[in-house]
Amino acid sequence: GNRDETDEITTTVRVIVKVRPFLDNDPRGTLCLMCNDTEIQIDSKKVGSAKCFMFEKVIGPEDVNDELFMDLENNINHAARGGNSCILAYGQTGSGKTYTMNGVISKSLEKLRQHFDGENVMISLQIIEIYNEQVKNLLTNDPLSRDWKDILNLSEIQLGNNWVIKAQDLIKKSCHKRQTKSTDSNEMSSRSHCIYTIRFSYNNVNGKIQFVDLAGSERINKSKVTGEALKETLHINKSLSALQDVITALETKSEHIPYRNSLLTRLLQPTLGGAESQVTVILTCSPCEDSVNETLCTLSLGTRIK
Ligand code: ADP
Ligand code: MG
Repeated sequence: GNRDETDEITTTVRVIVKVRPFLDNDPRGTLCLMCNDTEIQIDSKKVGSAKCFMFEKVIGPEDVNDELFMDLENNINHAARGGNSCILAYGQTGSGKTYTMNGVISKSLEKLRQHFDGENVMISLQIIEIYNEQVKNLLTNDPLSRDWKDILNLSEIQLGNNWVIKAQDLIKKSCHKRQTKSTDSNEMSSRSHCIYTIRFSYNNVNGKIQFVDLAGSERINKSKVTGEALKETLHINKSLSALQDVITALETKSEHIPYRNSLLTRLLQPTLGGAESQVTVILTCSPCEDSVNETLCTLSLGTRIK
């Protein structure tokens, strides 16, 4: 640990919950989640007695993401004033991470546009994916490479005029690129982390925001998978627990912040740590009773980091 580094750390971490609506192809089941403002209760025989969790905000299945964004506006305003913001979606596959992050990113771009109104702004975008501790630039068709530092340096795109439209277009294309792969290997997009980094400077203000669509947090029984699937699982477990360790270390103002334990935490260091960082973790949950054990794991993780 380097004292100079840690003396300045003023990271604030907020944890909010978003439960997605029931979908047509969800298994039928009784409603076992109750949400109200800051509280979420799980009531299902599958988990024994009823369990209640408190978070800064809990957004139930009825909401159409506007309430969620109202809660995230602070992060965007903070970055627009020259701070660092990191917004992450954590939850099992199928709980709504990608859906939620796409909505959040699109609304965030609009909000930034309002902040920059009439100013001369320099803005850049980077979209990278981490799969099996390897980095891929989703803005091009570069193959996976071990040389993550090179990829980081080369993958930032300057957006120039009409940056909102350009960014939206690039994000849409990168999502598509991420999804096409899922047809050939088993849902690869849910086994990888995707990081969207926006940096800007205007009027002597420099800010940055990272949006993170994390790999599915579901626990895969290691004794039941082999080969590629086992490798994926070990990498995901390692990086998600490294993330948890970093967030905990930041909150307790630890002397040593263990960014180097995974590629994910190294790449998020610019917005997780340092002076004036605002971090918001969105715990995404499925409302289905079938998923109740994973939901319990997600909420427990949230309780440990809040
Ligand atoms: P994940 O990225 O966590 O695997 P997805 O974002 O792909 O999950 O969501 C799973 C499914 O649920 C998708 O069909 C998505 O469209 C739908 N979904 C997720 N969140 C919402 C929501 N808030 N409103 C409506 N549909 C949603
Ligand atoms: Mg997804």
